[in-house]
Amino acid sequence: MLQVSGLVKVYPGPVAALQGVDLEVTAGMFGLLGPNGAGKSTFMRILAGVLEPTSGGVRLDGHDTIADPQWLRERLGYLPQDFGFYAHLTGRDMLLHLMRLKGVNAPGGPGPLADELLRRVNMSFAAQRPVKSYSGGMRQRLGIAQAISGNPRLLIVDEPTAGLDPEERLRFYHLLAELAEDRVVILSTHIVEDVAVLCPRFAVIRAGRLVALTTPRAARAALEGRIVEGVVRPAELPALREQWQVTQELLVEGHHRVRVYTPGGDRPLGFEAVAPSLEDAYLVLMRTGALPGTEAAAAEPVNA
Ligand code: ADP
Repeated sequence: MLQVSGLVKVYPGPVAALQGVDLEVTAGMFGLLGPNGAGKSTFMRILAGVLEPTSGGVRLDGHDTIADPQWLRERLGYLPQDFGFYAHLTGRDMLLHLMRLKGVNAPGGPGPLADELLRRVNMSFAAQRPVKSYSGGMRQRLGIAQAISGNPRLLIVDEPTAGLDPEERLRFYHLLAELAEDRVVILSTHIVEDVAVLCPRFAVIRAGRLVALTTPRAARAALEGRIVEGVVRPAELPALREQWQVTQELLVEGHHRVRVYTPGGDRPLGFEAVAPSLEDAYLVLMRTGALPGTEAAAAEPVNA
């Protein structure tokens, strides 16, 4: 289990990137969802032990990871946002190099372990190709091979699906889901679909604070009857935006379909209640700082 308490990070400036984050995560996939600049990478880097918090604590299976970074390193897999590769090396040589740097213990020798890891992430076919010839998805899978090379208890992946095409993303989802079966996996993302597909539990971070800690089902249920949808003419849009809390404006077959959040249940003329999506929940959180009827709703509003 991963326990985070009162985590604060203030960068010189000062920039208060994390303003007191509390969280408990058990084995499985956990999503950290938030817009750019919300503090996700700061949070992930502190969890990974590569950045010191200003204050607060992190415990993995009861062990203080900030006080004992070596203990953490032996149990951690980390796929950072900017993962550096030596483009001229083959995927296999790159992996062997990274395993050496990490000091991974391979009882059967590093070669067989590298081959096994490449097989696990479906990259055996490209093991002997230079990394510079890899697609974004192939690079990410090599990054995951590196991250799981020490069989970590905690796997941290920071915005791993950004820049992947739909097919690569799907393949990456399957790999992550498999890896989350027997360890804590923390996935940071600004893509709502990543969470909808993968995460039984997730938190939403906004301006350095958690504004929700919930499940996709509960987040959608909190909005039941409060999301309405209708088709409007483009000329009607400005007035609608002014009067109502518009969450999404979709262009469907040339028509403007607008979704509106209506906390009180009233609605624009001709609009019908629809099943809320996770995207709706996220957009309401970004707009209002809380979902109705949830614990976070009682928290102080976020003004950023
Ligand atoms: P995210 O990963 O959600 O995009 P970050 O954790 O990268 O968010 O950034 C959170 C905030 O902290 C942003 O306002 C960002 O500009 C700021 N920040 C991040 N790194 C630094 C740094 N090294 N020095 C100063 N400010 C930083």
